[in-house]
Amino acid sequence: MTDTLHIIGAGLAGSEAAWQAAQAGVPVVLHEMRPKVGTFAHRTGDCAEMVCSNSFRSDDDERNAVGLLHWEMRAAGGLIMQMADRHALPAGGALAVDREAFSAAVTEALRAHPLISFAPGEICELPGEGRWIIATGPLTSGALATSIRAATGAESLAFFDAIAPIVHAETINMDIAWRQSRYDKGETEEDQKAYINCPMDRAQYEAFIDALLSAEKTEFHEGETAGYFDGCLPIEVMAERGRETLRHGPMKPVGLTNLHDPATKSYAVVQLRRDNALGTLYNIVGFQTKMKYGAQTAVFRMIPGLENASFARLGGIHRNTFLNAPTLLDEQMRLRSRPNLRFAGQVTGVEGYVESAAMGLLAGRMAAAEMKGQTLPPPGFETAMGALVNHITGGAEAKSFQPMNVNFGLFPPLEEARGGRKGRKDRYKGYTDRAKEVFSAWLAAQA
Ligand SMILES: Cc1cc2nc3c(=O)[nH]c(=O)nc-3n(C[C@H](O)[C@H](O)[C@H](O)COP(=O)(O)OP(=O)(O)OC[C@H]3O[C@@H](n4cnc5c(N)ncnc54)[C@H](O)[C@@H]3O)c2cc1C
Repeated sequence: MTDTLHIIGAGLAGSEAAWQAAQAGVPVVLHEMRPKVGTFAHRTGDCAEMVCSNSFRSDDDERNAVGLLHWEMRAAGGLIMQMADRHALPAGGALAVDREAFSAAVTEALRAHPLISFAPGEICELPGEGRWIIATGPLTSGALATSIRAATGAESLAFFDAIAPIVHAETINMDIAWRQSRYDKGETEEDQKAYINCPMDRAQYEAFIDALLSAEKTEFHEGETAGYFDGCLPIEVMAERGRETLRHGPMKPVGLTNLHDPATKSYAVVQLRRDNALGTLYNIVGFQTKMKYGAQTAVFRMIPGLENASFARLGGIHRNTFLNAPTLLDEQMRLRSRPNLRFAGQVTGVEGYVESAAMGLLAGRMAAAEMKGQTLPPPGFETAMGALVNHITGGAEAKSFQPMNVNFGLFPPLEEARGGRKGRKDRYKGYTDRAKEVFSAWLAAQA
């Protein structure tokens, strides 16, 4: 082994990546711009700062996908989980932490590691030579973002997300909804039936608009809107501009015939588009929103066909720098055009502290293996970590790619589940049992 691994960003992902690579015996230099250069959200110069909530979400590793990710990261000796457990606070079934003590402990562990050194300061350009992991997060500094854009193309790096809610396909009521592309467009039958349509009559539409207008909304954080442009309005803002706006926009009924009631013209139609290659997830087209999560569930279940919808993720709009990873990254999380550069964390299009740290864990291990002349395959996508990395590096629809939380919709369905014999809770247990087995084997193969 001859090289040093350089990591840009000592956030959730970069800290975990540094720890994993160093534990594998690879010298690491960690480049962090804070506290010299700040962001609107970070407050300290510590590693792995939690910028908003102090929660790592559910710790249920039997029936929850994020809990399963905790389990996998613990099994892989993850620093983030180790310190989160050490500084956990009572929070019911969630893993909440004392954020200052947590970040201080991560910083101390990294500083104490004999193979990790710190190089304070902002990296303003995408490096040319050497092995690098770029883990600069949703608030990647402007100079570096410009350099990444120059290397990847303007369309490939977004500065805001516009997340439409994503629904588990199996929970859509197909006795009400039907499959059809507008004007039956497409060469193949699959293309002609690419969308799932949910019809509304006038009364349903009016009630839906009322609910949108009165729902509680979240605000942008102070400083978050710099660079925001009006191109991707939340649906509730469209509704505020006129009660008919949505009916002439994302909910227009034209070119669609209700399969269950061809003689009746729908007043409005909500369309859902496939979100992953497995076909287990569908996003509601054009429904990015800043409604509060609780309000979203209630409002979206008013849509005929979605009365019992289960949401893999809810909508949002945030300041968020992220790559179009499905087109840019290979399965080793390397930039296809410059394979000496790996990306990790939220900039790869995962979302959340846990998901970001998990992608750091994987990138750190993959980089370390590569520097020892080996190739570490990603864990099988029956695992939470594998499902997530598979999603961002190819499983997701590249055209409509938006950041993703871990959820069971990303996992290959269980054989028994296809027949519908299991209840949802048992099914989730089936997923996590299978994942633990596959993940343990993946770890054992590296021992
Ligand atoms: C306002 C806001 C609120 C959020 N709230 C939540 C929440 O409540 N829960 C949740 O799970 N997630 C939340 N997120 C998402 C959260 O930021 C990520 O999940 C997580 O921090 C991502 O980890 P990361 O390591 O990819 O990025 P970060 O943790 O942001 O780490 C990136 C690091 O890179 C450094 N950096 C950036 N550019 C450079 C450069 N050019 N040179 C050197 N260093 C650089 C930054 O200073 C930072 O330390 C929020 C994000 C934002 C912006």
